[in-house]
Amino acid sequence: MARIFSLSFPHATVPAMSHDASRRRFLTIAVVAAATAPVALHSLNAEAAAPAPAALPKLSPTDATAKALGYVEDATKAKHAAFKPGSDCANCNFFKGAKGAASGPCTIFPKNTVVAKGWCSAYAKKP
Ligand code: SF4
Repeated sequence: MARIFSLSFPHATVPAMSHDASRRRFLTIAVVAAATAPVALHSLNAEAAAPAPAALPKLSPTDATAKALGYVEDATKAKHAAFKPGSDCANCNFFKGAKGAASGPCTIFPKNTVVAKGWCSAYAKKP
């Protein structure tokens, strides 16, 4: 329609510019969509692949890293020199479990959950 209007009135440039502007806008949107689609799909796939915190297996005290950090499931039984009474996973800054939860994720052990009453030598008091 704009083309016909432009041909009929060669000095009327407004419709022709609108057509160009629409075309430019369409091309811009198409380029942005093409550029961002892989990133968006990757994000969706990453979310789908990441296990929910509840699905993480419980950390075993016999795990090599757990042993190296002196992890125990009962902080009152910790024998590590760095242990201070009253410290446990529930009040550690690395503990990401819900308040009052018996266990939860820990930043130091990203593939496992730890016991809220547990402890390891990476303990850092919550601010
Ligand atoms: S870093 Fe903190 S929350 Fe994680 S196991 Fe050690 S004491 Fe528990």
